[in-house]
Amino acid sequence: MGWLRDWKRKRILARHRIDDALWRRALHHLPFLRGLAEAEAQRLRELAVVFIAEKQFTAVRGVQISDDDRVEIALQACLPILELGLDWYDGWVGIVVHPSEFHVQRSETGEDGVVHEWDDELAGESWPGGPVVLSWEALDDSGSVAEGGANVVIHEFAHKLDMAGGEADGVPPLPTREARERWIETFDAEFDRFCAAAGAGKESVLDPYAAEHEAEFFAVASEVFFESPNALKREFPKLYDLFAGFYRQDPAQRLAA
Ligand SMILES: [Zn+2]
Repeated sequence: MGWLRDWKRKRILARHRIDDALWRRALHHLPFLRGLAEAEAQRLRELAVVFIAEKQFTAVRGVQISDDDRVEIALQACLPILELGLDWYDGWVGIVVHPSEFHVQRSETGEDGVVHEWDDELAGESWPGGPVVLSWEALDDSGSVAEGGANVVIHEFAHKLDMAGGEADGVPPLPTREARERWIETFDAEFDRFCAAAGAGKESVLDPYAAEHEAEFFAVASEVFFESPNALKREFPKLYDLFAGFYRQDPAQRLAA
């Protein structure tokens, strides 16, 4: 079926584009996209056009999604897969935008059979095989350097890449078993180092939330990898190299200036 999809994507690209004014506004709001070489920027714009055509955006509870919002979500979602390809986002279509942080009722049954329930306040959520849920308020903070490299879109789409290999565990699909073993070894060591430092109250380029779980460490570190790559490279050089290999990108180099 690959040819049919390629043909459909060519047709989409023949009919739609992100015009220059829209692209310039996106660059203004998302400064970490500015270091892309001309050919990379062109490819990102094309991926975003296909992404918008293939995914289904739904705004709930009175949110209005403008063309700018849609394009900015798509560009940020496509940046991590710039060298990997859009097929990494196969198997689901929905992107749901809420007005502000939303509450989710959680429950979990412990080994002792006791059910624990709690209420989570979320800026975003990614369901395995289901939609990506984003808060419009958190979207507005993405890209702003003042937010310290927080980026809810890259965070949630990093979860999607992680889950492309099964459960969300911080280990995305890798080409060989050796690559997977290498990943786990380095990733776990960096995760442990971060958790120990966070536990001791040390400042880090990564949000303390990254200590919650390996999957959160992967998603939070991915945000910083694309938004503030030089800071990540300084504090976690091994993790940076691991991510550069996986994403096949070197954002620290392109944002060096
Ligand atoms: Zn998360």
